[in-house]
Amino acid sequence: MSSYTLAQITKVVNGSLSGNGNMGIAQLVYDSRRIQHPQTALFFALQTANADGHDYVNEAYKKGVRSFVVSKNISLKEANVILVGDTLTALQKLAAWHRGHFHMPVIGITGSNGKTVVKEWLNALLEDDYQIVRSPKSFNSQIGVPLSVWQMEAQHTLGIFEAGISQPGEMQKLERIIQPTVGVLTNIGEAHSEGFTSTEEKRTEKLRLFTQADVVIGEAGNLASLSTKKFTWSKNEEATLRIRQIKKERTSTVIEADYKDEFLLLSIPFTDDASIENSIACWCVLLQFGLKQETIQERMNALHPVDMRLQLNHAINDCLLINDSYSADTTSLRIALDFLAQQSAGLKRTVILSDFYESGKREEELYAEIAQLLNQYKVEKVIGIGKEIASQLPLKIDAVNFQSYTTTEDFLQQFKSSDFYKEIVLLKGARKAGFERIASLFEEKLHGTVLQINLAAVTHNLKEYQKRLKPSTKIMAMVKAFAYGSGGAEIASVLQFSNVAFLGVAYADEGVELVQAGVNIPIMVMNAEPSSFAAIVEHELQPVVYSKALLQSFGAYIRQQGLSAYPVHLEIETGMNRLGFSLSEVDEVARHLAANSYLSIQSVFSHLAGSEDPGEDAFTQQQAARFHEAVSVLQQHITYPFLKHISNSAAMVRHPDLQLDMVRLGIGLYGIEPDAEDVLRLQPVATLRSTVAQIKQIKKGESVSYNRRGMVNRDSKIATVRIGYADGYSRRFGNGIGKMLVNGKPAPVIGTVCMDMTMLDVTDIDGVKEGDDVIVFGADLPVQEVAKQVGTIPYEIMTSVSQRVKRVYYFE
Ligand SMILES: *Cc1c(COP(=O)(O)O)cnc(C)c1O
Repeated sequence: MSSYTLAQITKVVNGSLSGNGNMGIAQLVYDSRRIQHPQTALFFALQTANADGHDYVNEAYKKGVRSFVVSKNISLKEANVILVGDTLTALQKLAAWHRGHFHMPVIGITGSNGKTVVKEWLNALLEDDYQIVRSPKSFNSQIGVPLSVWQMEAQHTLGIFEAGISQPGEMQKLERIIQPTVGVLTNIGEAHSEGFTSTEEKRTEKLRLFTQADVVIGEAGNLASLSTKKFTWSKNEEATLRIRQIKKERTSTVIEADYKDEFLLLSIPFTDDASIENSIACWCVLLQFGLKQETIQERMNALHPVDMRLQLNHAINDCLLINDSYSADTTSLRIALDFLAQQSAGLKRTVILSDFYESGKREEELYAEIAQLLNQYKVEKVIGIGKEIASQLPLKIDAVNFQSYTTTEDFLQQFKSSDFYKEIVLLKGARKAGFERIASLFEEKLHGTVLQINLAAVTHNLKEYQKRLKPSTKIMAMVKAFAYGSGGAEIASVLQFSNVAFLGVAYADEGVELVQAGVNIPIMVMNAEPSSFAAIVEHELQPVVYSKALLQSFGAYIRQQGLSAYPVHLEIETGMNRLGFSLSEVDEVARHLAANSYLSIQSVFSHLAGSEDPGEDAFTQQQAARFHEAVSVLQQHITYPFLKHISNSAAMVRHPDLQLDMVRLGIGLYGIEPDAEDVLRLQPVATLRSTVAQIKQIKKGESVSYNRRGMVNRDSKIATVRIGYADGYSRRFGNGIGKMLVNGKPAPVIGTVCMDMTMLDVTDIDGVKEGDDVIVFGADLPVQEVAKQVGTIPYEIMTSVSQRVKRVYYFE
């Protein structure tokens, strides 16, 4: 492992050091939640749109970190602090300087799409010939690139790094860090995206990565402006690799091309256009590297799709399964363990591993590192499958329970499902270990309908809203009604990990479930009633007090329990006329609370009735004015500070002046902009999908479903889908009102919706078969549209998906 002293680093980043200059540094970290070797870590307090790393310096210190790079003065006992003007620039300078120590070839990849796939494929195609260091996952940003390049070490013989940019000016910085000797441009996407005004501007900016490259590889048209040495490919003009024909077959594609007076044939195991383009880019690189066509063909046969998703599935015996059985290297293990830790609330941590293969590391060193990771993430049960792992790992890990098997077959034969109960199981193995067979033992059989939840989209949406907030404004994430139907504890875990301040639920039992699943940030309960007081107090939930009667009864309960200063929230009625103290009551309530100390006010809030509606803006402002009035009355009597909040998702965008101390974010988290103006780039979180159970050909004059409501006036093809009103697909969608997507095309509901089934008219859609996928809502059929079909709002459609429908979580 590389190591520099703080004195060296201080000089490189042009900073000033207070502390011990002889201290050796091996790791660079910026996320206080992900610190592995605190003694030799250097913490960079980075300032991003969403967070200020200086706020996390203390947390890192508590975890044992003693060396910091900061741009604001901090005071920490016995810490080594390098003060710089800008911490990100310092990180980038340090990485660039580190890069300068190496003279191996480095492939730099950029483009609008395909960067990660091309990087992963090149790694697979070249790993027999080189000791490769590459970017983890898609670490290609201004922060990700320096951290990737920092991994370069003496034993490596090839670097492969990707670079992604979102605005002009960024590539030059990445170029200085990666210093590619070989450039690869994957493609240039649509104009006007990614903060560029034209495709030309975007192309020019991307090409800046290759300023010092010895050769640049890419599509001829995209490289036309370059005067450096090129290796081009093209379907329609002269190029180094001139593509003559692309023939798609059932499961493979054959590409014919001319190269240096030779005629070459390449068969690849893909048929989609993106994979074909990415394969051609890799082909060019391999030819440039001098590989024989025969070898190239052999290695290309073994390529597989790059699946960057981590999937979380409900499995047998109340277990959760993370299936990551396509790679076995420490970088991806760490990412998977992070996800495991994030989702493991209340579950025992189990990891099943195959032998690992990682170039450039001695076996002993490799397994020591793996053991270190397993220890750090407090894995309780480890199952090693493979000769090496079985002998190398046991000595080094703390896991209470270690089992080993020589082969995957052995494990399969001895598998007893009763050995697993309430565990979160990470399955992590090399492709050749065939762990997908283990995954199928764990999987619960689902009925054809599932609600897929993209947890990464939740984080993305949260960030989109965070960008709109002042740094001091807190977020309460509303997760009532199973997080708007998307599943309570899993979503709550992600939100907790993303540092939201509070969670909000409607009823006490929803909060209890989150606490039992291990959520430990404060949870506000909007509807508390006497029968739930005991559960509230036992689980340390924080009720909303909205009436004098509730104040009286909850207060009495707290005193009777001998408690004091119990945290509560006050709701003020300002115009919604749902729950809350009226303005005329506030003074009395304030005096009472000031005189009695058994309750402690955490926050005071009100709810807006029409924040998404421009026609009600005056009313919204009136509500806000009433709220401010109530707050000032409270502040006359209550002398300690409390948070004030009134904004929901729509108000965060439409009434930024109302963000106050905190906002309550609901529907937006789940990817829906309530005012439908699409000013944020939200990602849909939920996809409701089902499958075709049967196809029927019926004749003109026949009818479909109950009471013969679906009469057909032509010969028709009918698909019966495994979803009905018991799953939450309302009867209101019957008789042509609702549509679902079959093979990507809209198919109307025919006849009445049944309890467990719905029939679709697929006469006009070619090739529909039994077992085909059907989308009820998702990215291509937005919930908003589905809601419109029956004259309701997305909130109702999302929360109606019944608990019978399995939720399947993934992280993309
Ligand atoms: C549900 C709810 C919210 C969230 O509203 P969205 O429109 O989903 O953002 C905020 N505050 C209260 C009191 C709520 O009940």
